[in-house]
Amino acid sequence: MTVAPTLPGAVTVRVPAKVNLELRVGPRRPDGFHALATVYQAVSLHDEVSVARWDDWQVVAAGAYADRIPTDGDNLAVRAARLVADRWSVDERLSIRIDKDIPVAGGMAGGSADAAATLVACDQLWGLGLDRDELAELAATLGSDVPFILAGGNAMGSGRGEQLAPVLARGTFHWVFAISDTGLSTPEVYAECDRLREREGVDVPEPHVSSELMAALRSGDPALLGAALHNDLEPAAFSLRPQLRELRDAGVEFGALGGIVSGSGPTVAFLTESHEASLDLSVSLAASDLCRDLRRAKGPVHGAHVVQSPRGD
Ligand code: ATP
Repeated sequence: MTVAPTLPGAVTVRVPAKVNLELRVGPRRPDGFHALATVYQAVSLHDEVSVARWDDWQVVAAGAYADRIPTDGDNLAVRAARLVADRWSVDERLSIRIDKDIPVAGGMAGGSADAAATLVACDQLWGLGLDRDELAELAATLGSDVPFILAGGNAMGSGRGEQLAPVLARGTFHWVFAISDTGLSTPEVYAECDRLREREGVDVPEPHVSSELMAALRSGDPALLGAALHNDLEPAAFSLRPQLRELRDAGVEFGALGGIVSGSGPTVAFLTESHEASLDLSVSLAASDLCRDLRRAKGPVHGAHVVQSPRGD
């Protein structure tokens, strides 16, 4: 990863991406969000976000996907920093450096990750001493996935994904992420999901996580987990990008224990038996020419955490 130069006095936070092991989408709520039941896992694709005092708001992007994120006030990192500054009346502006290694608009919560990292970094830089609950409350106002990215590990999400509960899990899992050229926007995929359900006249039940998935996580057995992966948004993602189905099927044929569109896509996540199996699968997928980029990762990993601070704590 190319590391962006950091300013003196900067606080740097490392933050993971996520994959939804299961994503059940319930009815659309009166507030426009869908009721969700999901199980998240934090995986070892990381962004690094550094914040330092500056005379204006500034975003400097570096890394593999730097050219695909906004550098103005729309950047979720800036929104997060401004939220903390407003809430605690901190009259300062920041230079925010984002070393972007999480695919953008890939269904891996890259923007949410930068928001979560910025909350942790501002807390440290400004010495606010916020506890986990205060950070989680701020996180939920920034996006449904942000509280999980703060926490990391494995967790169950309900509400619109922001209400977290612990899950019992064992072991480390190995993943290959197949990244497509074109992003899929989250609202577009939910709209397609609604359209398909309406067309089929489906009566949408309240969402629940399956007992198979919870048992698979408890066992630590990747074959059981591979068989239990599920994403209700997958038909919508396949409808918008039919080549994703081909990619998923190819990965499973090449030996993945399971393949699933990650969140709202278009990244396809493949679970494998081991690090070596991930290498083999990457070689086969690369030769197939069905995706632009391949990344290997493991999960679960820690949530957003400080890796460099002038305060030294
Ligand atoms: P999710 O999985 O949470 O639905 P995603 O991974 O599909 O999200 P993101 O990478 O978060 O998608 O990007 C969604 C949009 O947010 C993009 O259009 C991007 O331009 C915008 N965005 C704003 N700030 C950021 C940021 N710091 N990093 C990435 N994207 C950002």
